[in-house]
Amino acid sequence: MDTVMTLTYHGQDRESGREALEEGVAEVYELEDLLSVTAPDSEISALNEAGQAYLSPDTAQLLSAALELCALTGGALDITAYPAVEAWGFTTGEYRVPNQAELEELGDHIDYTRVSLDQESASLPDGMKLDLGAVAKGYTADRLAKLAQERDITSALLDLGQSTILALGAKPDGSPWRIGIQDPQGEGYLGVLELEGQAMGTSGGYQRYFERDGVRYWHIIDPATAAPARSGLLSVTVVSPSGLACDGLSTALFVMGLERGTQFWRDYPELEFEALFILEDGSLALTSGLKDSFTLAQGYEDREVEVLS
Ligand code: ADP
Ligand code: MG
Repeated sequence: MDTVMTLTYHGQDRESGREALEEGVAEVYELEDLLSVTAPDSEISALNEAGQAYLSPDTAQLLSAALELCALTGGALDITAYPAVEAWGFTTGEYRVPNQAELEELGDHIDYTRVSLDQESASLPDGMKLDLGAVAKGYTADRLAKLAQERDITSALLDLGQSTILALGAKPDGSPWRIGIQDPQGEGYLGVLELEGQAMGTSGGYQRYFERDGVRYWHIIDPATAAPARSGLLSVTVVSPSGLACDGLSTALFVMGLERGTQFWRDYPELEFEALFILEDGSLALTSGLKDSFTLAQGYEDREVEVLS
């Protein structure tokens, strides 16, 4: 999954913690083999290459959940944005800025509604490719949490890298886990979120980007333009019991921006998520459910914070 993960389990004793860890690591590699769009023999690669492929139950389940999130977010999340991600060079590091005609052509082929999925196979029209990169780490976090719970682990911190983190229970001493929120314009942490039995995911333009002629281009694509999403945000963090929802919705809210994102939060209470937006001017906005769990870090106390309700 092209990142560094840190899994911490607290078991009844050292041995049970270690067994849970080993099982978790094996699960990560297994899911990566199925889901990775860059591994040539993953099920997703097979689907992209042939336009049709049989899927194992895990892949089918995640694809189905991802398509549901694409629909709920009105296509702000669109798993068929992958050819645009490739065209901008984010898959190889050979960055380029496609011209307008190319972007229009790419945009014509971004449309998750044209992915068809039945029980055990999926298909895609010619010229389209899909990628579960926006949701795979969150889904993996949920799977790891479930495995840990089956082992009666009640405290774990599953840090899947690039800001997808699931906190199982509280810390062993009973206090909440404290997670630093990266300052998108600096090196350090701008604030701290307290988590207990919840996941969080951050999507931001600062995570993977390149610069051309003084303009910054990042890896989160607006499906409407096939170009990097410019919605006035530097980052979005989503907190929810579901890792999958955190991962998918943080990407989607980054595309939507503050206004549409806030309306989406109001419209979908059943998704049980909260969000923290960091705006281009450095100010913050957070949904009311995070009011008591977020604090600004030292040196950032004078940042403006709006509470959304
Ligand atoms: P990261 O994986 O870096 O934590 P995200 O979860 O925000 O970040 O996912 C970004 C990845 O998802 C990109 O690398 C790209 O492959 C894919 N992607 C980019 N834009 C979209 C989008 N609008 N919808 C779905 N997937 C996207
Ligand atoms: Mg995501």
